[in-house]
Amino acid sequence: MSINFKNFVKQVSVNNPNEPEFLQAVTEVVEDLIPFINEHRPDLIDQKILERMVEPERVVSFRVAWLDDKNEIQVNRGFRVQMNSAIGPYKGGLRFAPDVNLSILKFLAFEQVFKNSLTSLPIGGGKGGSNFDPKGKSDQEIMRFCQSFMTELQRHIGSETDVPAGDIGVGSREIGYLFGQYKRLQNNFSGVLTGKGVQWGGSYIRPEATGYGLLYFVQCVLDYHNDTMEGKTVSISGAGNVAYYAAEKAIQLGAKVITLSNSQGTIYDKEGFTLEKLHFIAGLGRDLGKYAKKYSSATYHAKENPWQFKCDIALPCATQNEISEADAKLLIKNGCKIVAEGANMPSTAEAIKVYIQHKILFGPGKAANAGGVAVSGLEMSQNAIGQQWSSEKVDHRLKLIMENIHKTCVRYGKDNNGFVNYLRGANIGGFIKVAEAMKAQGVV
Ligand code: GLU
Repeated sequence: MSINFKNFVKQVSVNNPNEPEFLQAVTEVVEDLIPFINEHRPDLIDQKILERMVEPERVVSFRVAWLDDKNEIQVNRGFRVQMNSAIGPYKGGLRFAPDVNLSILKFLAFEQVFKNSLTSLPIGGGKGGSNFDPKGKSDQEIMRFCQSFMTELQRHIGSETDVPAGDIGVGSREIGYLFGQYKRLQNNFSGVLTGKGVQWGGSYIRPEATGYGLLYFVQCVLDYHNDTMEGKTVSISGAGNVAYYAAEKAIQLGAKVITLSNSQGTIYDKEGFTLEKLHFIAGLGRDLGKYAKKYSSATYHAKENPWQFKCDIALPCATQNEISEADAKLLIKNGCKIVAEGANMPSTAEAIKVYIQHKILFGPGKAANAGGVAVSGLEMSQNAIGQQWSSEKVDHRLKLIMENIHKTCVRYGKDNNGFVNYLRGANIGGFIKVAEAMKAQGVV
């Protein structure tokens, strides 16, 4: 008996109509898993492990009604996708953005299962959020929205059930308001959310973790290929938390970072950013154009993404499907050798085909950006034992986790000719542990 790739994908698409992002994420994973299972693990076929993994354990969708500053009623939709709890409580961020829908959250929750498994920490996979757009909202509106959102979510989560965190549109401010409301309703101070402030149960290095972890992963890739970061030209997209700390660490490691961007445009600085320039960007808000007015080495490119500029390493840190097939071809034409994803699924399926065909060293998000959730896992450990570790200790553990993820990718992704297909390595490496746990726990 064997699994047929085409039939499997077709069935998933029939079962999940109008969910293109979810189908994209599933296809990207099972393209590697099905040949592996057919050849090496026929026992997992009878167990219907893959069929079970693409079905969320639970999905909740709920109304979030709140009052805006004009005292008008606003209505949004909230979700939590509890994808897989075979190796630990559901874990994954909350995203507040106008394009949030079930397809996007199911793709993110599915990716999270593999990512969390790769960290080697005992955390399952989930994701949630709302189509609420935080842009242009007052602080009071954000607070009222978060309180209403948590009033429903609190009955579905818990420090040993499901532990949400931040994602796009959810940072330390939102985690604060969500945590305050949870504690008030449950009368319980527990590690139910991660990304908390360091004064009230948070972990040092959590804000930096995704960006720093991404660079530690890239360092492993370079080291494995007898190379270093020193003098490399790096293009980064995004201007949020992940992009910012990725840029900071890349600069500290001796690289030249030439771009940052948001949905309105890209800044390109031919001399590269310094830590001081980065600091200036952090204070700009959404108007990145102001940077080029201050620094003559820079230009601002409205409505353009960063992939047209010559670089050695590309780090997409903005959002899903931000690198098209044409962008991927342009990157390669300009000499890019490494693409590592700080965002979740920023490369389209077509772009990934281009990378693999041209033997680009491609670190998929589930491996390369796992540092964020890894430090969330460390935050859970600290909460569970009532301690707070130093930033040096957390940073050191983050580095070890990223090295370990790199090792797992090499173990399962190395071709006979020595080329490392990191995507296959991450897919298989993340899968094995979850599959074994599901098999051991019976038909649930
Ligand atoms: N949203 C982040 C991710 O995509 C972090 C999740 C978490 O810390 O739970 O992995």
